[in-house]
Amino acid sequence: MTSDFLMLDMRTMAFASSVSGFLMAATMLGIYHAGMRARAMLDWLVAGLALGTGYLVGTLSLVGFFPLSGASAAGVANLLISVGHMFVLVGIQRYLGDRARTGILLGVIFALFVAGLVLEPLRESLGARILVYSVLHLVLSAWAGALLWRSERPGMRAYHRMAAAVLLGFSAVVLFRFLEALAPPGAIPLGQGDVQTIAFLAAMIFGFLLTMAFAVMLFREKQVELADLAEKDPLTGMNNRLSLDSIAEKYMQRAERQGMPLSIMLFDLDHFKRVNDEFGHQVGDRVLSEIADRIGRIIRGEDVAFRFGGEEFLALLPGASLEQAERVAERLRAAIGDEPVNVGRHRLDLTASLGVVEYLPGKESWDDCIKRVDEALYRAKRGGRDRISRHVPVSVVMPG
Ligand code: GH3
Ligand code: MG
Ligand code: MG
Repeated sequence: MTSDFLMLDMRTMAFASSVSGFLMAATMLGIYHAGMRARAMLDWLVAGLALGTGYLVGTLSLVGFFPLSGASAAGVANLLISVGHMFVLVGIQRYLGDRARTGILLGVIFALFVAGLVLEPLRESLGARILVYSVLHLVLSAWAGALLWRSERPGMRAYHRMAAAVLLGFSAVVLFRFLEALAPPGAIPLGQGDVQTIAFLAAMIFGFLLTMAFAVMLFREKQVELADLAEKDPLTGMNNRLSLDSIAEKYMQRAERQGMPLSIMLFDLDHFKRVNDEFGHQVGDRVLSEIADRIGRIIRGEDVAFRFGGEEFLALLPGASLEQAERVAERLRAAIGDEPVNVGRHRLDLTASLGVVEYLPGKESWDDCIKRVDEALYRAKRGGRDRISRHVPVSVVMPG
């Protein structure tokens, strides 16, 4: 029973694989209890239970405690282990928001189980069973690994690839086992016991690493979600003021380093209080979210817009000179002023006032810049609203 090659006992390894399956289930239960919620956790809990029980059946059968014959025990163990791999995949599909084909996959696995009981060659030959189940496990874990590897979710890439690497590494071991079963006897200098022991060892390591990768992935995802929530305005989906200072700082440094202009635009809807007074706060909210959509359509990819206050918005326009920023501001003014906002049966004619400045690299702080753009906006309001005003510092207008 002891593999000469690895000096490991096959039964101990089978038992360790079972423990690593149950560890996955226990970890999912633990983090659920700690307040983490994700639909995939239930799939991975089931996966852990199925893998743990499957390898436990294998262990009991190896030590002679299982009440069925060796072939039937192997059939039950393979069924459970396959269901485990399937739920790892299904969980990943649900986690990524893809459609999970649980029914079809379960159907295939049960068909294989029944075939293993009924078909003579499968029932009698360990080699044939290894070939069939290697292909199944290879497909399931390589599929799961590929899905995670290709996922592009922002902030999650490294974490997805870590879990994908575990799944693809395991697929490689399964592929090795498949090739070994196909190879003529003696082609690979390992005994049958060695290969089986390596398979259990791989299953144990796979279970441990995958459990860790899933847990880290779930926590990271929650952390990204909370960070988003803290920096996004829930009504408009725009960045909120909390994230403004750090982003502005980054853009200012870049402008200084690259010698590129950076302009700032601040705008405020005109007489917005009247909208609330006349139509109610809910209509006001829907108007704000429509205005946010129009802003999103006008600014370019690298521009960032923020909800600066109630009905005040700010946009950073990297690479835009004051003149270019004024053209963007004019398009925005027209996008708001020229087309009424429809909310239910109401048609609202709105206008906005805008202030524009160009950041003076090395000559002013972010606070100075905000003060100037605020002044510009104030001038646009005082000048009659529905207009754009720029602020140019005196030292720039009259050099020397
Ligand atoms: P103006 O800017 O032209 O001077 O007049 P205004 O009526 O827009 O005045 P101001 O900008 O001072 O008022 C902002 C109003 O916007 C006050 C508040 O009723 C409304 N407001 C602010 N935040 C929200 C919000 O989140 N939802 C809704 N519905 N209204 C908001
Ligand atoms: Mg206003
Ligand atoms: Mg205001």
